[in-house]
Amino acid sequence: MNIAILSRDPKLYSTQRLKKAGEKRGHNVEIIDHMKCVLYLEKKSPMVLYNGRKLDYFDAIIPRIGASVTVYGAAVVRQFEMMKVFTAVESQALIRSRDKFRSLQILSRAGIGLPKTMFMDYTKDTEGIVEAVGGAPVIIKLLEGTQGLGVVLAENKKAAQSVIDAFHGLKTRIMVQEFVKESKGADIRAFIVNGEVVGAMKRQAKEGEFRSNLHRGGKATLIKLTSLEKQTAITAAKKMGLGVAGVDMLPSARGPLIIEVNSSPGLEGIEGATKVDIAGKIIQYLEKNAMKKKIQKDKI
Ligand code: ADP
Ligand code: GLU
Repeated sequence: MNIAILSRDPKLYSTQRLKKAGEKRGHNVEIIDHMKCVLYLEKKSPMVLYNGRKLDYFDAIIPRIGASVTVYGAAVVRQFEMMKVFTAVESQALIRSRDKFRSLQILSRAGIGLPKTMFMDYTKDTEGIVEAVGGAPVIIKLLEGTQGLGVVLAENKKAAQSVIDAFHGLKTRIMVQEFVKESKGADIRAFIVNGEVVGAMKRQAKEGEFRSNLHRGGKATLIKLTSLEKQTAITAAKKMGLGVAGVDMLPSARGPLIIEVNSSPGLEGIEGATKVDIAGKIIQYLEKNAMKKKIQKDKI
């Protein structure tokens, strides 16, 4: 197969691992910078141009689109979809996953556990909001944050008011969320490929920090999921329409609570903690599905 990894940085661990895993399984793998792709349209002839070349020979793509370029990145993915190329992450699911409240709406409707969460326009009624999610402390987070940046713990109502005011002053959208105390700075990342958990790790925040992101100094260790955690993660990825997903959950007295479903989950932490060849699993997922698509395409 011809596989494109859409990535802006060929040196990244995840990009390198996917390339090597694809080559090991006998495929031609190219790293394509999605921001350098030029999208061409006319009646029935979508095309992607790259450094003056036509990218019309790929069987599958693996999007690794950063949060800051979601809109253009998703347009590139959609262009490949129009050209009947199989994608590990569909454009629609990618966009959905980048809006935290939209994601929680979908998960809530599916009956999945999540922390009490509120989304509101500018308000002075901080008291009402803080009460509604169970009282201080509360978590305040940017709608489109990533790597733990833009996630704040407000210890009391006064602090919550200042943080909400500051974010509103910057014209950014925020959510206010119940602080899940039982998690004690730990979260669980379940890595899903094609409807199965292929690896899971616990991430523990460093001393004095509540955010367990590896980018914030969190440490990853291997864990075995309970069957409820497994089922929750699988259902979440399915409802989000993601064939490849990193599902983040907080353990709590009322079961696992989902905080986020990542559509470009990093491979370094999870492969390090589990010693599983997750890049290889993603390539096998492409092999299964891109071939189906190719047969359909040949029939048209
Ligand atoms: P990001 O997308 O920036 O990683 P998250 O919503 O995943 O943002 O939050 C980052 C980290 O903060 C999580 O991994 C978790 O450790 C902690 N966290 C987030 N929400 C809560 C919450 N409601 N209660 C307790 N800890 C939380
Ligand atoms: N894109 C990375 C991931 O989803 C972010 C990791 C993190 O949140 O620290 O794995």
